[in-house]
Amino acid sequence: MPFKRFFKSKTKELPVFLPYQRASNDFCNECFGECTSVCKEEIIIKKVGIPPYLNFNTSGCVFCKKCAQVCYETYGEESVLDPSLEDKIQAYARIDVLSCLAYHQVICSSCRDRCKDAIKFSGMFYPEVLETCTGCGLCVSVCPKDSISILARE
Ligand code: SF4
Ligand code: SF4
Ligand code: SF4
Repeated sequence: MPFKRFFKSKTKELPVFLPYQRASNDFCNECFGECTSVCKEEIIIKKVGIPPYLNFNTSGCVFCKKCAQVCYETYGEESVLDPSLEDKIQAYARIDVLSCLAYHQVICSSCRDRCKDAIKFSGMFYPEVLETCTGCGLCVSVCPKDSISILARE
């Protein structure tokens, strides 16, 4: 989805920004985006004139800190990202109960297999996302029904 349409979509989905952010990312508009090239998961999208954001279509954040380290090494105390901050993205996972197989009594635990810390089933069905969700997005690409979205915390 193009960046600007995040703000216009009916569901009001906002872009999910990088972990370790300690300052306004307005400054990123002036940067070529060194963070994108160091992310082995290739989830950082940077377009000219807008801050980098995360795309979880193929992978998620493993909190390797490489994006924050290169930002800090480049800009020092004025860096947008700070690798000393906690491993967390200002976002959370949401499961669409209308399309999720396990909400229709079909056995599927792909998301829990990927994330035992923040996805809880009631017996064999009805997965729920817990408060411990870090917003990493690793559950998104393993869902066979594309039922998981990562939503920015406002
Ligand atoms: S390296 Fe830092 S300043 Fe540059 S785009 Fe990435 S987060 Fe923004
Ligand atoms: S912490 Fe690592 S995996 Fe996560 S966005 Fe930064 S570079 Fe990518
Ligand atoms: S539910 Fe788990 S895998 Fe999915 S975003 Fe949250 S912490 Fe990451």
